[in-house]
Amino acid sequence: MEKKNIAILGSTGSIGTQALDVAREFPDKFEISVLTASNNADTLIQQALEFNPKIVIIVSEVAYKKVKDALAHTSIKVLSGEEALVEAVQLEEIDVVLNAIVGSAGLRPTVKAITCGKDIALANKETLVVSGELIMRLVKQHNVKMLPIDSEHSAIFQCLVGEPSPIEKIYLTASGGPFRGWSREQLANVRKAQALKHPNWSMGAKITIDSASLMNKGLEVIEAKWLFDLDINQIDVIVHPQSIVHSIVQFEDGSMKAQMGLPDMKLPIQYALTYPQRYKNTFKRFDFMDYGNLTFEKPDLNTFRNLQLAFDALAEGGNRCCVLNAANETAVAAFLEDKVSFLGMSNILEETLCHIKNTNNLSLDDYIAYDMESRIVARDLINKLKQ
Ligand code: NAD
Ligand code: MG
Repeated sequence: MEKKNIAILGSTGSIGTQALDVAREFPDKFEISVLTASNNADTLIQQALEFNPKIVIIVSEVAYKKVKDALAHTSIKVLSGEEALVEAVQLEEIDVVLNAIVGSAGLRPTVKAITCGKDIALANKETLVVSGELIMRLVKQHNVKMLPIDSEHSAIFQCLVGEPSPIEKIYLTASGGPFRGWSREQLANVRKAQALKHPNWSMGAKITIDSASLMNKGLEVIEAKWLFDLDINQIDVIVHPQSIVHSIVQFEDGSMKAQMGLPDMKLPIQYALTYPQRYKNTFKRFDFMDYGNLTFEKPDLNTFRNLQLAFDALAEGGNRCCVLNAANETAVAAFLEDKVSFLGMSNILEETLCHIKNTNNLSLDDYIAYDMESRIVARDLINKLKQ
């Protein structure tokens, strides 16, 4: 079999480095064509020397010279700037674009990759949150595969293999994060070091904060709606603190299928790259004796308001999910800089939504414009906060 050529966008992050672990596990199956990073020059250089891609992109122009110099003795092309991402995904030899960029910065490269006929392995959920309707329309039009990497969506995707019948309902599982069971009083004084400690997963900072606020599950509800073409009332969230059942599909005869495994993102990454095949790997296996109980409970939507805001934005449609996402990216960045409190993040989201009017029938440029406007509004609101 010919090797599959992969472009990894965001290769220096949590998902990106684990995608390279998967590539390392199957050296005769995958070829890495493109590697990209925002500004982590050292990791990118090391990855480039190991995997010898055609193109390497460092978005930050400040870090460009360092990467360029370090790879001068190789035949690797080094590019810089956001526009380079959009150019690189067009490379003829690429079969799959694995998008592991964090945030709506992943939107334009995904759209370009789809319109160039590349399959997409998507970790970058924000792309679907911002403009899921548009993305899935393009996926159909250009007849490419949209392969989910997010563990819950990979679980649903795996449960649907070989099932021609409609879905009645899906249950997205949530670990509940580090603050499961906490009250709003307890959350009032949460510090970022506490929020950055996730009980089951080791991930990038933004998604770790989103997991603590349950915004991550809200984004995943929106992601699931578009990926699997569901109505909002077909999507339920259930807290499952052990993170072993990765999600569940219920069919119209009442039968439910769940996908299980250890919480390890290498698994969904591998499946997205090998679908519909499964390759034997050396990753650790689940042992029932390590888990006496698998438990399930309802999420607390009053305490964790972001999840409710996501359901509401999805129900309203138009630009709401785009605005919500941009406000959230801005609020999380501010929380990480100690400029807004943990609970204060939800206020920023609500106020940003109030400031921007809802509109329908949006083009890609409209979504990008609302994303930018929402960031400005959210940043202004944060700057006005008394510290
Ligand atoms: P991360 O912060 O660890 O890595 C992000 C990567 O994107 C880095 O390589 C960084 O250089 C690059 N990047 C950041 N900003 C960029 C920009 N503006 N332009 C171009 N590149 C940029 O994040 P992560 O945890 O790997 O998450 C990546 C995506 O995958 C997110 O959308 C996240 O929600 C999703 N995801 C992550 C996990 C996980 O376990 N980490 C699980 C499910 C889904
Ligand atoms: Mg997930």
